Amino acid sequence: MLENRVNYQRELDRILAALPENGAPPTLLLHACCAPCSSYVLEYLSRYFSITLLFYNPNISPAPEYDHRLEEVRRLVSEMPLKNSVTVEAGRYEPSEFTAIARGLERIPEGGERCFRCYELRLREAAQIAKERGFDWFCTTLSISPLKNAQKLNEIGLRLAAETGVRWLPSDFKKKEGFKRSIVLSEEYNLYRQNYCGCVYSKALAGKSV
Ligand code: SF4
Repeated sequence: MLENRVNYQRELDRILAALPENGAPPTLLLHACCAPCSSYVLEYLSRYFSITLLFYNPNISPAPEYDHRLEEVRRLVSEMPLKNSVTVEAGRYEPSEFTAIARGLERIPEGGERCFRCYELRLREAAQIAKERGFDWFCTTLSISPLKNAQKLNEIGLRLAAETGVRWLPSDFKKKEGFKRSIVLSEEYNLYRQNYCGCVYSKALAGKSV
């Protein structure tokens, strides 16, 4: 049976076209996984939103790798010309939060249930902060990667939006050549491009994932 897939890029196009053209830009809490993925998404979305980039990634191991990815995000934002304001915030770094959700799923290949829980862990934090601080929208850069499940990411985002009352900005950033553009921007800004997704399990497969 064919899966009924939603085109979330089209959903995003529809929302962006309906945003008011005048007045202060709406606020977006954007979860960021790394600088390369953030590059294209910031170039694209900072035309429409005032953005707070939330680096909340307790899945990343080891700690020096986490620090390096965060520093690259900060450097990118300081160097890139962006239309509206973009500020970077580091979330908590408590690797035990990731270990807890991954328990029992350590041996599952990348792209399975462990990853879905990892998406939710990070999106839940973003949704909660967006709610507490009154953001208009929340979103994540994660859908730009061809290895991330955009359907699942958007299903989780929509569910959290229903729970928190903050609007989810749907996305599938790899469409419209977003992933290719992120590679061009990564070269232009000489960004560190990791060769594994983030957790210790994906590190064991380094070279086969991004
Ligand atoms: S492979 Fe990536 S998305 Fe999946 S659990 Fe590990 S860090 Fe999270």
